[in-house]
Amino acid sequence: MKRIFYSLVISVLFASSTVYAKEGAHWGYESQNGPSHWGQMSPDYYLCGKGKNQSPVNLSNFVDAKLPQLNIDYNTRGKEIVNNGHTIQVNYENGSTITIDNHRFALLQFHFHSPSENRINGKSYPLEGHFVHADKDGNLAVISVLYEEGKSNPALGRIWQQMPERAGEKKTLAGNVVALDIMPKTNDYYFFNGSLTTPPCTEGVRWYVLKQPVSISKKQIKKFTKVIHHPNNRPVQPLDSRLVLQ
Ligand SMILES: [Zn+2]
Repeated sequence: MKRIFYSLVISVLFASSTVYAKEGAHWGYESQNGPSHWGQMSPDYYLCGKGKNQSPVNLSNFVDAKLPQLNIDYNTRGKEIVNNGHTIQVNYENGSTITIDNHRFALLQFHFHSPSENRINGKSYPLEGHFVHADKDGNLAVISVLYEEGKSNPALGRIWQQMPERAGEKKTLAGNVVALDIMPKTNDYYFFNGSLTTPPCTEGVRWYVLKQPVSISKKQIKKFTKVIHHPNNRPVQPLDSRLVLQ
């Protein structure tokens, strides 16, 4: 009886520690919880370690293709701004969409990484914006905007002014925060198939990386890195058999 009791205690302890390890899977960007650990932190994060269509990538070896036009039809605005500890994210009002080849995706949110996650021919940028969209079946499409150091960007400045400084903080956005104001004027893009760049690293994400970078100031770059405290970019992942279309 005693022996059965002890083995029960041990198995309960073991089970609870397993649960704890899963629930405590606090991924991040630091040495103990950074991208090289994500794949082992939870069975749900399996693709972060073993996926074959992962993002970000070093965009190179471009293949010329007749890419369909990317039609951006954003009519609404940002409603709230969140510091989730991993990034600064603006959640968008319903009603803004993109259409590619008659396939429509709705803009859900945009957020930032510094330095950039994607690279173009090996070149890194100080900041990258991800504009995340979903279609009616939940398929994801991300427009990536690369920011380069130069003139200050007044529209980004209006967002940065309202940036919550503490992780877990959320604010209702004041003023007219419009995604198009921090995007380039032209929609030419590179395309590849990839994944989310954060756990669970889900694949099947369509990536549209806009070719024209947008200028922001050194001060604006510094403000983001000060609030996030550390780089929040996943390293580039192998392209394997994927093509980057242009
Ligand atoms: Zn992102």
